[in-house]
Amino acid sequence: MLEAIFARLDEIHQEMIDIRRDLHMHPELSFQEVRTPQVIAEYQRRLGLDVQTEVGGRGVVATLHGERPGKTVAIRADFDALPIYEQNDVPYKSKNEGVMHACGHDAHTAIALGLAKVFSENKDQLEGNIVFIHQHAEEQNPGGAIGMIEDGCLDGVDVIFATHMENYFPVGKVIYSNGYILAASDRFEIEVKGVGGHGAFPQDTKDSVVIGSQIVGNLQQIISRRVDPLKSAVLTVGAFHSGEAPNVIAHNAIIKGTVRTFDEEIRNQIEKQMEDIVAYTCKASGADYKFEYDRGFPATWNHPEPTELLIDAAKSVVNKEDIVSIPPNMGGEDFSYFLQKVPGTYFFTGSANEEKGLIYPYHHPKFDIDEDALVIGAKTLASATIKYLKNNK
Ligand code: MN
Repeated sequence: MLEAIFARLDEIHQEMIDIRRDLHMHPELSFQEVRTPQVIAEYQRRLGLDVQTEVGGRGVVATLHGERPGKTVAIRADFDALPIYEQNDVPYKSKNEGVMHACGHDAHTAIALGLAKVFSENKDQLEGNIVFIHQHAEEQNPGGAIGMIEDGCLDGVDVIFATHMENYFPVGKVIYSNGYILAASDRFEIEVKGVGGHGAFPQDTKDSVVIGSQIVGNLQQIISRRVDPLKSAVLTVGAFHSGEAPNVIAHNAIIKGTVRTFDEEIRNQIEKQMEDIVAYTCKASGADYKFEYDRGFPATWNHPEPTELLIDAAKSVVNKEDIVSIPPNMGGEDFSYFLQKVPGTYFFTGSANEEKGLIYPYHHPKFDIDEDALVIGAKTLASATIKYLKNNK
């Protein structure tokens, strides 16, 4: 079956390119997707899959029932775009000015639709079911995944796979991580509520610049002195706004930043210790405060067994030396929510091509991919799906 699927994926490469380019020309922002889920649902219906729309908001779930009994594999592809002005001069440039598929979600969708087509042609041999989870709003908190899960998109699913385009690696590479691959991504906002006044009479004030500066300094101790050095985390203060005039003591300060972690305990620890530092630093100076800690997506943790299976599956697509293990990085993904519910793995498909100038990373206004990655990503997912269904009869 694998050979037949691979041969058909090669044959429909151009169709996947066409789908990807059509989506690329019509990008839509997170939680505002209208055309994209329509295009997906229509395509899946034409193939004869069971299609549910408006799953968890704007998501689409299409189920392919194999004609032989077996387990159920889910393949997730996100489909939203970003608020970026595209700077590529290509025939398929975004027609929706200021919005761009700069994270390759157009490619993820084209891969999923290509797989749906090819597997539906071979459903007489399919030993189980495949659920295509087309997810809206990956790029924006709280993300589309939570709502889709609440609406039951994982019901009956035994394992889940997803891939993401990756321009930090050339096309032809398959990139994985066993265990954590992406971080939890949180934001915070602190307000120091001091007492303003004349720059010459500090005794009558609570100086928010001084107190805020102490907070920024004290926060540095969390990573350097409080977090277990064998665990990793980032705490970045990205904004500090306070004061207007040289002779006025500022009445407040706004401090904003981001926290990235892998371990959930470390995440809880950091949130707690941040608030302690803010509270006690303000108390020591007699100021008041507001502390907001806004949790983003949790860390993405790949389950060992499906990851081993994926590595094995990739060997039928690319050479062994082109299957690359990477350490986790500090990016974030709401695919993490799916992996909290069912076993699975998330991997990258190399999509850069230096000779063609396709070198810009995701979220860059010149991001573009080598479209050979469509076939490689699709074949790797197909191979993992078939292998899983065969091993788990
Ligand atoms: Mn993305």
